[in-house]
Amino acid sequence: MVYQIAHALVEETFRHFRQCGRGEEECQMLWLSPWSRPETITQVVHPKHVAHFGGFVVEESWLNAFWCELADADLGIRLQAHTHPRHAFHSATDDSFPIIHTPGFLSLVIPDFALGPVGFKEAYLTELQTDGRWREVAIEDRLVLT
Ligand SMILES: [Zn+2]
Repeated sequence: MVYQIAHALVEETFRHFRQCGRGEEECQMLWLSPWSRPETITQVVHPKHVAHFGGFVVEESWLNAFWCELADADLGIRLQAHTHPRHAFHSATDDSFPIIHTPGFLSLVIPDFALGPVGFKEAYLTELQTDGRWREVAIEDRLVLT
């Protein structure tokens, strides 16, 4: 699947990363699209989470309520994005834990706590495989800015 996302939603993603992480802590955003038009990202959401050194944990009670909201609104999570302190890469640790376990689910890592220019430069994208592992994919093969 190739997803289209409006530049304004990418800006909103970066705004949350900067406000929440303040250049010091990792932060996560989720990109959503309707099941009727899955290829068009229509909303970005900042999950309630606790940041800690080297990562973050999404609050379980928030997530439980969010699943219900998604079902009611007929929306699905297509991508999880999070920041890294310096270079964007995917480590084997908890930061690659998928919120969704469907093959094709995407994880985008933004370097430098998203303090750099808004966009996908230096970002790192991985896709969940059928065997449950992440594999790097070219950003231009999955994401189109509109
Ligand atoms: Zn945050």
